[in-house]
Amino acid sequence: MTAAGDVGGRAISFSSEVKAELAQFTPARSHCQEHELAGLFHACRGHLEQTSQGLSARLERLPNGIARKLVRLAHARGGVEVSFLRSAGAHQDSFRVDLVLDAPLAELFGPGREEQMPERGCDQKAVLRAFFLGCGSVSSPTAAYHLELSPPSPAWSRGLSRLLKERGVPVRAGVRAGQPLLYLKDGDGIVHLLSVIGASRAVIEFEKTRVLRELSGAVNRQLNFETANIAKTVASSSRQLAAIDQLEAAGRMERLSPALRAAARARRSHPDATLAELARRLGLSRSAANHRLRRLLELAAEPGRRSRTAAVPGPLTYGPDQSGRRPDRAVTVQGGRDVD
Ligand SMILES: [Zn+2]
Repeated sequence: MTAAGDVGGRAISFSSEVKAELAQFTPARSHCQEHELAGLFHACRGHLEQTSQGLSARLERLPNGIARKLVRLAHARGGVEVSFLRSAGAHQDSFRVDLVLDAPLAELFGPGREEQMPERGCDQKAVLRAFFLGCGSVSSPTAAYHLELSPPSPAWSRGLSRLLKERGVPVRAGVRAGQPLLYLKDGDGIVHLLSVIGASRAVIEFEKTRVLRELSGAVNRQLNFETANIAKTVASSSRQLAAIDQLEAAGRMERLSPALRAAARARRSHPDATLAELARRLGLSRSAANHRLRRLLELAAEPGRRSRTAAVPGPLTYGPDQSGRRPDRAVTVQGGRDVD
C-alpha cells in the first residue's frame, strides 16, 4: 500500500486503499459477521421490505468491494438468502444486494440499533469497520490529517460518537449541508481508529508517512532557526565592524583599554564568528564578550572625547582641498582615554 497508489494510470486515493484492505477482511465468528452485515446496511442507508420470502434488506448503488463483502459475510454466516445485481454506470458499475433475513438478523437490521451498540468489543469493532467502509473516508497522511464518517441520521451520529469516545477516539461532531458528520483531525486519533477497525496496513502506511513528514518538519524548523541565527550573527558582526572602523578612523583605538582592543581585534580577524566563538577565542564568558562588543558600539556612537585644548580648526579631510594646499590635520591629544 502506498500513500497515493496508481493502478493502470488511474490514481487510487488513500481512502480507497484503506477500504480495499477492510473489504477483504471477513471476521471468523458469526456474531462479528452479523454486526458487520447490519452495520453496512445502516451505513449504506439500506431499507427493509416484506417480500414473499420474508423480511428482506436491500442495499443499492454499492461499489464492487462492499457488494462482494456483503455476499462473503452472508455466506460465511449462513442462513441468509443473498442475491446481487450489477448495473453498468458511466464511470464504474454499481451493485444492488438483497438479503433475506432470519429473526436474529432482522433484529440487528431493525430500527433503534443506534441506541443499542453491541456489548462485545469484537462486535463494536465490526460496527465501526462497517461504518467506515459504508460512509467513511480518510485523507492521505501526506495531506492535512482528516478522517470522517457521514452517519445516516443524527441518532446514529450520537450513537457512533459515544462508541468512539468510549474506545478512546476523540471524534468531533458537526453538520455538513444539513447532514450529520463525525470527524477527526489529529494523527493519533486517526491511527487509533484505523487500528481499532483492523486496517493494519493502512496504519503502517500512515505512521511511516507521518514520521517522514514530522521529521522533515523538524529539519526545516532547525534549518530556519539556524538561518535566522546566522542572519543575526552577520547583522551584529557588521555593526561591530563598522563601529571598530569608526573608532580606528578617528584614531581612538589606541586610547581604548587593552580588553576592548583585544575584543576589537578578535572581531576584525573573525567577522563570521558567533558570540560564543569569539568568547572562546578571548577566553571570556559569553556575557563578558558581549559586554565588550556592546561597549565598542556605544563608544563609536558617542562623539570622540576631545583634548582639553580645542581641536585644531580645519576640515577633517585628508585629501587635497580645492586650493591645492594640504589641509590642517586633526590632532589627537593624548590624555583623554576611553574607559572600558
Ligand atoms: Zn463478535
